[in-house]
Amino acid sequence: RGTLRYIIRLTTRPRVARFSSFPTPTTKLFINNEFLESRTNQWIDLRNPATNKVISKVPESTTAEMEAAVAAAKEAFPAWSRSTILSRQQIMFRLHELISKNLARLTEVVIQESGKTRSDAERESLRCLEIVKHCCSIPSLHLGESFQNISQDMDIFTFRLPLGVTAGITPFNFPALIPLMIFALSTVCGNTFVLKTSSYDPGAVMILVELCRESGFPPGVVNVIHGRKEPVTFLCDHPDIKAISFVGSDQAGNYIYERACKNGKRAQCNLGAKNYVVVMPDANKERTLSSLLSGAYGGAGQRCMSVSTAIFVGESKEWISELVEKAKQFKVNGGTDPEADIGPLISPEAKKRVCGLLQSGVDAGAKLLLDGRHIKVKGYEKGNFVGPTILSHVHPKMECYTAEIFGPVLTVLEVDTLDDAINIVRTNPYGNSTAIFTTNGASARKYTMECDVGQVGVNVAVPFPNPTFSFTGSRGSFKGDLHFKGKQGLQFCTQTKTVIQMWRAEHSVSAQPATSMPV
Ligand code: NAD
Repeated sequence: RGTLRYIIRLTTRPRVARFSSFPTPTTKLFINNEFLESRTNQWIDLRNPATNKVISKVPESTTAEMEAAVAAAKEAFPAWSRSTILSRQQIMFRLHELISKNLARLTEVVIQESGKTRSDAERESLRCLEIVKHCCSIPSLHLGESFQNISQDMDIFTFRLPLGVTAGITPFNFPALIPLMIFALSTVCGNTFVLKTSSYDPGAVMILVELCRESGFPPGVVNVIHGRKEPVTFLCDHPDIKAISFVGSDQAGNYIYERACKNGKRAQCNLGAKNYVVVMPDANKERTLSSLLSGAYGGAGQRCMSVSTAIFVGESKEWISELVEKAKQFKVNGGTDPEADIGPLISPEAKKRVCGLLQSGVDAGAKLLLDGRHIKVKGYEKGNFVGPTILSHVHPKMECYTAEIFGPVLTVLEVDTLDDAINIVRTNPYGNSTAIFTTNGASARKYTMECDVGQVGVNVAVPFPNPTFSFTGSRGSFKGDLHFKGKQGLQFCTQTKTVIQMWRAEHSVSAQPATSMPV
């Protein structure tokens, strides 16, 4: 009753901005299918990373607002979980159609808020369609198991049932794709959802939930709150939330995993990464170098699958100078420039961190074969740009070697043999992604078998699985049991009910009670 009162209070007050003196728009909450102005007095500036101009204010949701979001999801759960799977499939078909019609809008907001280049933002929007397409096949994904006549007159079958209210906490670097990947699968399985997006770029999610409402999601099925640490703690602690999906840094992820598990929730946490690519001398040089650079600089190196370190084996080290020349050709610019290859980093702090890590490496003896720290971008002088950078002569103890740099920086190492390369990869505590470039099947097979990393590419620098498959980062890059997406994602979002039934003709029933265990 208390939480319902919160909703009534929220939904009955005027829908005008309380802080009308703000010269900039505010990002709304989304509760019960309504966009609501927050009553908070704490607002976070949302800046365009290319210009650092404030383009929106994001609220630190109040406790009442967060309670209202969970209460709305809780109230929506009984009816939504009992809706037919075909009706949920229909909603997903409509969502697919609506996202298709709104791709340009989605792309634009991703460019403005996250700083991505146009082509990268467009790809992210298209990936959203793939996610929803996968959810459209929910009737076959969701099938249980059955066995007739497991014992005499007895059948056994299982159902996959939703959990209740589930929650997601998402990072800045895929502001549309990652939230959608989490909440679309969870809701199509019959759960309801409370999402806390990144306060750097929540705009794409606000479009997606508007499209969810239009496609027929009932009120309360998906809700959005905003803020930084407080809503995260709130979600981890709330007794009505059954499962938490997190994607982001180690620091936040370790905190969330521990707190959510202590509170008896399911948790799946995708964390940081440091991804190595091994280059064999027999590889196709052109394809390898261009894949390496695309993998390192795509998304300005702010992807958990970004290539961070290239290990050149044997004679392939002679390609490094060519790699540097190719890297110089990448165009750094604001995302709206159609020719931009590398956009800005998400924030001035992110730029400062990347430059600081590079400088600490240089101070300790590393060499910058290409230094993008001092780049000036015409028309975007205040943006958080770092140009393509290549670092060599690093040592395993250097922070620039061990830390996830999360910028357009590629470190190059040289070793003599494939075994040396494998040893380096095995000492990397992360296990998100790795790849080998070779034309030798035996080397590829050896590498695939011996490196302990959850996602391996052979002649593919960024082995990102499509939605049919789970995203299987391992070791330091993942905490939990069941991964995101694919079959494991579906298992994470559902629980199994096993039914054993016996229907026996009356005349054949033995009325004798027995206390021994039936076999
Ligand atoms: P982040 O951890 O700073 O933020 C992620 C979410 O957690 C945000 O919603 C944020 O508000 C919240 N948060 C931040 N600090 C917190 C704290 N101390 N306590 C509780 N919550 C907190 O991550 P980011 O900078 O937005 O994203 C970049 C990171 O995400 C990188 O480390 C990257 O590798 C990782 N990432 C991993 C994957 C993967 O699949 N493994 C995918 C994308 C991003």
